[in-house]
Order: sequence, then C-alpha cells, then structure tokens
Amino acid sequence: MFDKILIANRGEIALRVVRACREMGIASVAVHSTADSDAMHVRMADEAICIGPPPAAQSYLSYPAIISACEVSGAQAIHPGYGFLSENAQFVQVVEDHGLTFIGPTAEHIRIMGDKITAKDTMKALGVPCVPGSDGGVPDLDAARSVAGEIGYPVIIKATAGGGGRGMKVAESAEKIETAFQTARAEAKAAFGNDEVYIEKYLTTPRHIEVQVFGDGKGRAVHLGERDCSLQRRHQKVFEEAPGPAIAADERARIGKICADAVARINYIGAGTIEFLYENGAFYFIEMNTRLQVEHPVTEAVYDQDLVREQIRVAAGEPLSFTQDDLALNGHAIEVRINAERLPDFAPSPGRITQFHAPGGLGVRMDSGLYDGYAIPPYYDSLIGKLIVHGRDRPEALARLNRALGELIVDGVETTIPLFRDLMHEEAIQTGDYSIHWLETWLARAYES
Ligand code: ADP
Repeated sequence: MFDKILIANRGEIALRVVRACREMGIASVAVHSTADSDAMHVRMADEAICIGPPPAAQSYLSYPAIISACEVSGAQAIHPGYGFLSENAQFVQVVEDHGLTFIGPTAEHIRIMGDKITAKDTMKALGVPCVPGSDGGVPDLDAARSVAGEIGYPVIIKATAGGGGRGMKVAESAEKIETAFQTARAEAKAAFGNDEVYIEKYLTTPRHIEVQVFGDGKGRAVHLGERDCSLQRRHQKVFEEAPGPAIAADERARIGKICADAVARINYIGAGTIEFLYENGAFYFIEMNTRLQVEHPVTEAVYDQDLVREQIRVAAGEPLSFTQDDLALNGHAIEVRINAERLPDFAPSPGRITQFHAPGGLGVRMDSGLYDGYAIPPYYDSLIGKLIVHGRDRPEALARLNRALGELIVDGVETTIPLFRDLMHEEAIQTGDYSIHWLETWLARAYES
C-alpha cells in the first residue's frame, strides 16, 4: 500500500480523498493554486504545496507542477478526482513515466472511451446495447441521408470528439437533415478541431441511467447498480438518485451483469461509469466515464461501500474488498448539487461565505469545503457542495432531503438551494416520474417571469 498520495484536485472532491486516505493511514498531499491557499482541502491534508497561479492551466492542469510536487513530497501515487486531469490519457502516461501510480484506469482505456465512436464500437463488441445508428463516422450528406433513412427519424448528429453536450444536432425529418448535418459538423470543428460526426436514433423521452462498475485490472469486475441522473440543466446533472425509480430488480441485475462482464473482459481497473439512455424498458449505451463521478456518494450510501478507498486499493495492486455477492442494495439515496449560482439564470456567484451551517442527523451527508468566512474564488467550477441523504425507501429519503434542505444555511453568495426547496413540492419529484427533459421544461415555466 502507498504511504503517501497526492491529490491533483481541489474543493469537495479533494477533501473526499483526504478523508479516505486518513482512514486508511495514508498521508495526503494537497496541491493548490494561490487562489486556494485558504481552501479546506489545503487545511485538512497532511501537507500542502502551492503549485501555481489561479488559472487552472498553470496550476491544477500543469503536468510539471504536479509531478514536481510528487517529487518534493515523496508521494507515490496521484488521485485525480473528477474533471481536471482525471480523463487525460497523456497525463497518465507522464505519471507512469515518472515511476508514479495514477489512481484510475490505464491510459489506453481512457483513450478508447474518450473517442465516442471507438467507445461505442468497443462496447458493442462486448455485448453492451447501443443506440441504433451509423457504423462509425458519417463522411458526407449522402451517407447521412442514407443512414437516417435506414434507422428512421428523428435522428441526432453527434461529434466524435464531443463532450459537454456540444456539437449535437437533432433532425426531426428528412427536410432537416442537411442543416443539422452541416451545423453539427461546423460546431464540432469549432469546438474540438475535428469535424467528424456520427448519427444515432434520437430517443424522445429517455431517462439517463448510469451503471457504476469497478474492476481490479486482473479480469474481475463488479457492478454497484445504477443511478438515475435524468434531472439535468443543459446536460449538467443537478439531482441524482440510486436506485433509479424506474428500474426493477431484474433489470438492474441484467444490465449490471452486462456492464461488469464487459469491463472484466478488457481488464478494466478502478471505478467507471457506463452511461445509458433508457426508454420503454431498453438501455442504450451513450458513453463511459473512466473516473469517479461527482454523484458517487449515492451509490456509496445504498451499497455501504467506500469507492475512493477501493480505487486506492486496486491501484496499489490489492484485490477488490467485495465480490458481487457481497453487494446488497439497501434503501434509497439522493444527492443534490449545491452550486454558487444565481437563479433563475444560473450565473456564477462567487464571493465570501458569511454564514455556513451544514445539516446533520440520521442519513445525512454533506460533502463540501465550505466554512464561515471562506471566499469562493471566481476561477473554477461553481459546485461548492453536495448534500446526500439516505433512507430506507424513496419516500423516507425525500422527507429527509426536505428536512436537511431546511437546516442548510449558506449565506453571502447565491446558491441553487432554493431550486431544490422548490422542487420538493413537485409531483414528478415525489413520484420519480421524469425524463431528461423534465427539469428544463419545469425551469422554463417556474422561472419564466
Ligand atoms: P456529451 O459527452 O457531450 O455529454 P453524450 O453522448 O453523453 O454527450 O450525450 C449528452 C446528452 O445528450 C444525453 O444525456 C442526452 O440528454 C442527449 N442525447 C445524446 N444522445 C442522444 C440520443 N441518441 N437520443 C436522445 N438524446 C440524446
């Protein structure tokens, strides 16, 4: 096992990793930009090293700064958290070339899953159900017309190099295919420097269901059920729950096994998430994330496992500490993302926290680096905390969320807390009957004036 781990991240996720290290008796090294000198992850880690100025490109994304910090501190492994360098195959290579361990998958797996066509081809070959569509890239308009004609309208044209919901265009009918194709190509070129696009059947009212998998790198893998992350704004998740309200136990076991078997066959190591759209009882693969997800705590709650501890264990060459049979789903968990953003337009709202009070009590977990007097810097993501609740069933989890939201105080900046207080009154939230479009439609109506 490692003696010392460097955490190449900031905020709540850096703190999350510090906590796992401490419980495992491993020393932790925080790195930070000058904007984060007073951040909680810096205060809580065993050591802290300033690695550069506020812009992430010169600090949290700087290979030389991070590798030097490992050398100075004697850390043997790097935990990347999510975002920043967590899915950067080139960085993984650099880490390994320096004789250090990257706590995550191999560079090759990150590369495969980072290219959407290769990811889809790989998953298809491994027996994972995919959205019907083109075989690989679509070179020109004629090919686009012919593929769309075969799979039937509506179709969605997506960038091979896509991410963050950019470079995607829907064509409802044959008349719209030309514009959609050209626009998607132009957007892809502008956003990713690569104009290759592919075509999929457009699903009209799916849910976003993602399966948590975990591999030991030696051909063994398990699944930890699914999360429903359909409540999204501009393709950004805001509210996540496990298990999915629409997923039955036999469906969970079936898709879970397909996913676990797929990653076992490629000797996948560490945590991964296989994302699907789910409609009329069928799962359609869209992409795989080769890292720990923001919403991992809901899975931790219902399976009573520490996923960060497990990531560290397998990276150190130890076996997974559980088998599929050890994993039993227990109760229901919900996470809401607290962002420093102003409603109704969700504009970033950085600034000084004048008062912070975290909710507590049975079944409540608050992951955040907030404290009274903390100044949220304007340079980074607006996620400042995650409130996670766990109950014996969904109604209990909802009641607990409502109660915890009532206790939570974050003063001094605008946050998304009022949004969740409002959502608690909605029937669709109470019943769990929503698709990926529900939140956008609700926001347009609720906040239109
Ligand atoms: P990105 O990597 O840019 O986030 P994804 O492939 O994960 O792209 O898709 C992002 C979102 O776009 C999905 O969560 C879904 O809302 C929508 N989407 C993608 N593919 C389809 C499809 N075939 N049908 C309907 N919606 C889709």
